[in-house]
Amino acid sequence: MMNDSTPGVSATAAQAELLGRYASSLTGVFGAPSRVLVRGEGVHVWDADGRRYTDFLGGIAVNALGHAHPALVAAVTEQLGTLGHISNLFTSGPQISLAERLVDLAEAPTGSTVFFANSGSEANEAALKLARRHGREDPSGRRTRVLAMEHSFHGRTLGALAMTWKPAYREPFEPLPGGIEFIPAGDAAALEAALDETVAAVIIEPVQGESGVHGWPAGYLQAARDLTRRHGALLIFDEVQSGTGRTGTWFAYQNPAVTGQDEPVVPDAMTLAKGLGGGFPIGAMISFGPQVSDLLTAGQHGTTFGGNPVATAAALAVLDTIAQTGLLEHVRDLGARLARGLGAVDAVTEVRQYGLLIGVDLTVPAGAEAPVPDGGLAPAVVRAGLEAGYLLNATGPSTLRLAPPLVLGEEEADRLVADLPSLLDSAL
Ligand code: PLP
Repeated sequence: MMNDSTPGVSATAAQAELLGRYASSLTGVFGAPSRVLVRGEGVHVWDADGRRYTDFLGGIAVNALGHAHPALVAAVTEQLGTLGHISNLFTSGPQISLAERLVDLAEAPTGSTVFFANSGSEANEAALKLARRHGREDPSGRRTRVLAMEHSFHGRTLGALAMTWKPAYREPFEPLPGGIEFIPAGDAAALEAALDETVAAVIIEPVQGESGVHGWPAGYLQAARDLTRRHGALLIFDEVQSGTGRTGTWFAYQNPAVTGQDEPVVPDAMTLAKGLGGGFPIGAMISFGPQVSDLLTAGQHGTTFGGNPVATAAALAVLDTIAQTGLLEHVRDLGARLARGLGAVDAVTEVRQYGLLIGVDLTVPAGAEAPVPDGGLAPAVVRAGLEAGYLLNATGPSTLRLAPPLVLGEEEADRLVADLPSLLDSAL
């Protein structure tokens, strides 16, 4: 078994052949991949040349338990061998158990319900339909607006895209579904000014991930809760990236480091995906309380695969393992350790850390003569990382976003901190 990383070598041999076939057989919407990955175990993956990488990307906040975790493999294998798919004309034990568990972990009130989808975008499509239903329940007929935050990311399907801020993602596909407005992120006065009886919902990521990991001023999420309640609008939290233990609590709105208060900021609806299935595709929307749950009635929404027995069994295995192995506390401790280490590196100007969701702003180190590489320093560090045996991710020219498996160990965390200066050197 090859399990050593071999720094300094680009893709060769078997990989070059596969990458060539990729180029002629798959759409280029994700840009050219630089590696073909063939195997994973724990916090490591191996490429087609047998080289090992430590995974600080985690499938972009997906592989909560790392790769090939025995509990996840066993749950999926057993469920697939027992009952693999049934359609939503029926239900299954894992589907019911997962819905109950999510409502429980979310501390949602009695009468809360779960709708299952297959991805974050789909979960947010459901949330947007929920918002529309809420608006149409208003006898005035004027509750048509949905407010989203500047710098938000909610997905790439049309409804989710309409709530996503980034112009480069939106403009090629306009016109998008209407009625959605963006307000300055984290500005309670701006939110108050935008809210009135014409707003059906406000959607917020409790920590914005794709924007480079940005939280909110202390008290902002509670202010959003109070203001939406006062104006009869739904408060929807998109926890696709920040949920399922990623910040060190089950959901970010329960995390004092995110909200600035001990009590959770309870939304009217929450969307989940990514880490929930630990790598198996699943999304979910939780409606808090009977009034919100009753907004979507039979026949108004659905998907063929959502809540599939295998996907829900996978998610149950993820939640069980997080609970049974004390991962939430581990995420809080290790995240803080990693942030401390990274913050002490010369070229790091800011670290924004919420558990193991970490944004790292970089600048050219003092004394370095080289210019900033084309495309920015952070993407160059990602490329240097690949050569040195790391999977990293940049959300912009100067920002790394780390979202490693929640099972990352101290040794790997410390090693990245120790290696970052040399990655920066190689990047320049
Ligand atoms: N919402 C948030 C906050 C996300 O970070 C993402 C993906 O990055 C999505 C929604 C979209 O999820 P998916 O890619 O599973 O459709």
